[in-house]
Amino acid sequence: MNEDSDSNDETPAPVARPPKSEQEPASSELVEIAPNIVRMQLPIDMPGLGHVNCYILEDDRGLALVDPGLPDETSFRTLSDRLASFGASVQNVHTVIVTHSHPDHFGGYRHIANATDDVALITHESFRDRMKMDEMRENLDFDSLEPSTMTIEELREAFKRSTPWGKQFSPPDMALERFQRHGRESFASFRLPEPTQRVSDGTVIELAGREWVSVHTPGHTADHLCLYDPGEKVMLSGDHVLPSITPHIGGITPQQDPLAEFFNSLDRMHEFNDVELVLPAHGKLFSDLPGRADDIKEHHVERLDAIREIADEIGEADVNSYMQRLFRERSWGEMAESETYAHLEHLRIMGDAVAGESAGLRTYAPA
Ligand SMILES: [Zn+2]
Repeated sequence: MNEDSDSNDETPAPVARPPKSEQEPASSELVEIAPNIVRMQLPIDMPGLGHVNCYILEDDRGLALVDPGLPDETSFRTLSDRLASFGASVQNVHTVIVTHSHPDHFGGYRHIANATDDVALITHESFRDRMKMDEMRENLDFDSLEPSTMTIEELREAFKRSTPWGKQFSPPDMALERFQRHGRESFASFRLPEPTQRVSDGTVIELAGREWVSVHTPGHTADHLCLYDPGEKVMLSGDHVLPSITPHIGGITPQQDPLAEFFNSLDRMHEFNDVELVLPAHGKLFSDLPGRADDIKEHHVERLDAIREIADEIGEADVNSYMQRLFRERSWGEMAESETYAHLEHLRIMGDAVAGESAGLRTYAPA
């Protein structure tokens, strides 16, 4: 039941390429990376991702955690074990900061809040606005569902939704089977928690014994937040800037042109060219923040060029037809369609493509 997957770079690659650091399994090692900042890794199993980096920020009040992993029990058990090896426990956590509204980032908060009396949750102010899918879940008559007795077909029907490009999708059978097995509770844990503090761009937050500045970076999601520490020249970059993969930019979002917003948020990284250490939510630490942001932008500029060429070749076509030309077959599916749609919409808004409709599906042609 998971929409977050930071899709891989889809350019053709040699057969035996080394695994990207984002794909490596979670390490049990705790690594001190700056004064009062320790990195732990929590296991996740999502397309292209092997772990999430959860950062411990320590101060005299206790611990703050950035992105405490997936909502499942295994992730929370691992988090508790890692804290124990750090000589601490969940009870020491006073604050959770969530960089954006995807389950591998916010999921662990609910367990921490259940185990601790008073834990703050800090997010961007637009947290919760993010995807129509969540609105769909809210509209779903959740209490009338009896997952354990429903057939997969009935569940598929209940969770069916239409995309902005006219297609009908329902969650994969694997997710539905998991829902059947674990019931409503497990599904409820994927619902977004309510933040105790919502911050905007430029809010100063005191953590790890020093002041951080929140940086709103919409694109991957509308509510994505980075945290900048001008003292130690550190940036917590979430999924906005990752070391070797490009974050998924989907078209199912409240943003009108998520790709344009992502470009702006990438360009903004030049404002922070004094940053010496970037702490991403997946993969290894890196240092060249503006350089990496430029590379990611370049990747999307190339994808836009590729779509222009495809449009010249195939003429008016639906989103799926563009997707089949743009992505390798193993990546075909809703996420690839959603990303293709985001790029096509960007071209349309820039005046390089025109939208139409055929057989109930949205189509695009060269302008
Ligand atoms: Zn993520």
